[in-house]
Amino acid sequence: MQVFNLALFLCEAVIYFTVMTVFLHFRRQLGLGVFLAALGVMHFMETYLAAVFYIELPFGTVSPGSSVFFAGKLMMILLLYLKEDAAIVRQPIYGLFLGNLVTVGVAQLLQLHNVVALPAGRAADMGFLNEMGWLMVWGTALLYLDAIGIILLYERLGRLLRRHVVLRFALSGAALLTFDQIGFYAALAVLFDAPFSVFLGGWLAKLLAVAVYALLFAAYLKIEQIPRLARSPGEITDIFNRLTFRERYQALLARSGVDGLTGVLDRSRLEADAPKLIRDCLDRGRELSVVMIDADHFKEVNDLFGHLKGDEVLKEMAARLQADLRAGDHLFRFGGEEFVLLLPDTGHERALTLAERLRAEICRSVMRPDGQRVTVSIGVASAPEDGHALDALLGCADERLYGAKKNGRDGVHGRFGRLVSSGAGTGS
Ligand code: GH3
Ligand code: MG
Ligand code: MG
Repeated sequence: MQVFNLALFLCEAVIYFTVMTVFLHFRRQLGLGVFLAALGVMHFMETYLAAVFYIELPFGTVSPGSSVFFAGKLMMILLLYLKEDAAIVRQPIYGLFLGNLVTVGVAQLLQLHNVVALPAGRAADMGFLNEMGWLMVWGTALLYLDAIGIILLYERLGRLLRRHVVLRFALSGAALLTFDQIGFYAALAVLFDAPFSVFLGGWLAKLLAVAVYALLFAAYLKIEQIPRLARSPGEITDIFNRLTFRERYQALLARSGVDGLTGVLDRSRLEADAPKLIRDCLDRGRELSVVMIDADHFKEVNDLFGHLKGDEVLKEMAARLQADLRAGDHLFRFGGEEFVLLLPDTGHERALTLAERLRAEICRSVMRPDGQRVTVSIGVASAPEDGHALDALLGCADERLYGAKKNGRDGVHGRFGRLVSSGAGTGS
């Protein structure tokens, strides 16, 4: 009987892997949706079987739900990754994860219904549905980790066993299914009092299934070349970022808050980042300076040469300012032709020196199309003496900037009025 069960078990594994591989192979003709929907549909049965359907095999008690179908699905996710890439495979990973959560949530609502009595005493087993729900949540969380883990491990093994693709496929499957079996058995033991033999039997069955899948994978490679297998493994953190959508998040962060014209941070970023920077500095008992920079007579540049040329000059200014910053300094475009610098751990004197250097650098290197120098006026304020909050510091720097404008422009104003330096006045 056990041998017959084993033969059936192997048949199920071969059928599962073969059918799914056919769907995956013909995904261009059929659409990838066919493969993904089939993968998802079988997921519920898998969990159901893992809860209530067990058979005797020569090495123990086993549920085909977890050893054939669950293990198969994980290997299919790896195969999909190998045929496509991280950006595609994360779709079913997240789809299964979120779909399961929704299933469990809706099951909670269903239990609130007043249900119609069915003939012959048939009724939904709500207690079972509840237990399944928890098993699904747990299984889903494990599946999420398994799916990401198997891909990362496969890639990591590429450093040691670059050419042994089938071995990498088998080893990463075996490792992650071992991890999964420990996690899944823990839940079965808590919910259904499953004996330890279920752990052992299930584990061996998963390893057996992986062996079958690896052989079928090897056979598939004989008839189908997978070009990306020849490529060297990617950076693990890049793959992780893509698998988890983190790269989208990072790109969003990087894009938002950047000024489109000059590429420096924009005012929304100043408002978002500055309060924390200021607080951190003051908490550490350090000073922080705010430098406000405004181009002189910039309207004239636009009037004489047009807005597009004016834009070029602004870009050039931003690039010069950026190039001169130290690590830890932050440059923002505050408005039209106004820039703000945040200088953590920088007292007033040092900030004035830096501002003067920037003023001289702009005056030396930024030109209008007619060769005339572009100059800037600068106001500097420093926490804690000039204020503790961003608004107070900006207001103070702005007032001093206005002082510099009144004082003939092309200069730096700080707490004690105009900074007198050898460079001042060179532009006009
Ligand atoms: P002041 O020395 O008093 O600062 O004179 P100003 O002409 O620079 O005067 P103000 O700072 O008030 O004017 C800013 C001018 O900058 C107005 C506008 O024509 C120009 N400007 C603002 N934003 C942009 C921009 O994105 N591109 C271009 N080309 N010009 C801009
Ligand atoms: Mg101006
Ligand atoms: Mg201005």
